[in-house]
Amino acid sequence: MENCSLYTVLDEPFHGLQDLLGIEGINKMEQRQVEQRTEAVRRSCGVCSVCGKPLSEGQSQYAHKIPQKEMFIRKYGTWVIDHTLDGEMVCSLECNASVDVGSSYGNHLDVISDILIFEFQKMWGIEGLGKLSDKLIQKMRERGIN
Ligand SMILES: [Zn+2]
Repeated sequence: MENCSLYTVLDEPFHGLQDLLGIEGINKMEQRQVEQRTEAVRRSCGVCSVCGKPLSEGQSQYAHKIPQKEMFIRKYGTWVIDHTLDGEMVCSLECNASVDVGSSYGNHLDVISDILIFEFQKMWGIEGLGKLSDKLIQKMRERGIN
């Protein structure tokens, strides 16, 4: 949270997920769920990723981009559906609905490409982005596009 420029939006000191959900809420979750949400709160600097309202003021909740439905878990696996970039912390059901990308395969590929970019960078640092970029350029060249 220290590097969060939007952190000052919050009036009260904010220590992350526990302040939002309480220790009982966290105890009901699996470890991966706690990690997803913690990372999402860190990314959003404690405000709703949709409307910017402090999460502590709303009914904070974790919103999946690709819906956490059995059919999408079967199709993409938990590596995608449980990935931190498949979700955002939001303040309300209304904002939750606007994070949901629906059932469009194109929208899903967009989310998955963000996950892939994130993972390449996580694995190889900034060189990972070059590695991924080189792969795309190679594919374009193979198809005669410069
Ligand atoms: Zn909101």
